[in-house]
Amino acid sequence: MTDCIFCKIKDKQIPADVVYEDEHMLCFKDIQPSAPVHLLLIPKTHLDSLAHAEAKYEALLGKMMLKVPQIAADAGLTNGFKTQINTGKGGGQEVFHLHIHILGQPAH
Ligand code: 5GP
Ligand code: ZN
Repeated sequence: MTDCIFCKIKDKQIPADVVYEDEHMLCFKDIQPSAPVHLLLIPKTHLDSLAHAEAKYEALLGKMMLKVPQIAADAGLTNGFKTQINTGKGGGQEVFHLHIHILGQPAH
């Protein structure tokens, strides 16, 4: 059992609007979007934050980073997008399962 809300989303114990999934990662819509498109990309492995990312996660984090523009393009963000990773309480992190915010306005 886990108290981690994003692990529960990954395990399908809590519903989410999933836009991308593979064996390594899951991407779903933020429940309180702060942009017309606001997605969260998480690793399926629980990692508290970027500050907890050890060298063994190098390949996983690289895969995620390379997937971001593909997910963004699929969401219509072909003019560009913003990414954000909040780390630690001082960095504004509220959910302690590493996630990359992908934000933007779809191109017309
Ligand atoms: P943080 O501040 O930790 O970087 O961002 C956490 C984000 O997770 C927030 O933007 C918040 O709206 C989103 N969030 C929190 N709980 C849920 C949830 O249960 N489902 C979804 N889809 N997003 C959530
Ligand atoms: Zn988790």
